Amino acid sequence: MSSNIRTAMLPGSFDPPTLGHVDIIERSARLYDRLYVVIADNVNKSYLFTPEERLAMLKEILGGHGNIEVVTHSGLVVDFARTHRVGVMIRGVRALADFGYEFELAMTNKQLYPGLEVLFLPTSPKYFLLRSSAIKEMAAFGADITSMVPPLVADIMKRRIRAHQKQA
Ligand code: ADP
Repeated sequence: MSSNIRTAMLPGSFDPPTLGHVDIIERSARLYDRLYVVIADNVNKSYLFTPEERLAMLKEILGGHGNIEVVTHSGLVVDFARTHRVGVMIRGVRALADFGYEFELAMTNKQLYPGLEVLFLPTSPKYFLLRSSAIKEMAAFGADITSMVPPLVADIMKRRIRAHQKQA
């Protein structure tokens, strides 16, 4: 069965989801009939939030968008694309520094599954500097992250950090 070029996927860690993620997800969803937001559940990576927590956050944030489906997936993204007949994989790119890595990843994925096209979507300038890893670090040191993540994520992170500090 061939892939559907009107169905796209946007894979990532989303640990946690940022306003940059929400922007790229909403822009991608406008371009396709159906968009899967695929949350990576990679046993070799350590995350701040479990796949279920990331799923719950993204579902709540994106609740109003009828053509977006948020799922978790523990395996190769190309396998998800194959089984769901996804024709296009979108990756957001911020600085040039993202590009080398993303390009190599695209080459590998194309070899694994030639039926999948990879498209790069540049970040919106105002979200140029948003990175989950930096946000986690800033939040741990008590910085105000409310301009970087959806309010729901800011609240959850505040509670999570307080709980950690009480344990310490
Ligand atoms: P990964 O670990 O797979 O890079 P991320 O959660 O960091 O996952 O990102 C998921 C997707 O969202 C990637 O395609 C990434 O490039 C994109 N992305 C992340 N932050 C931004 C941003 N500020 N602007 C545009 N795209 C972004």
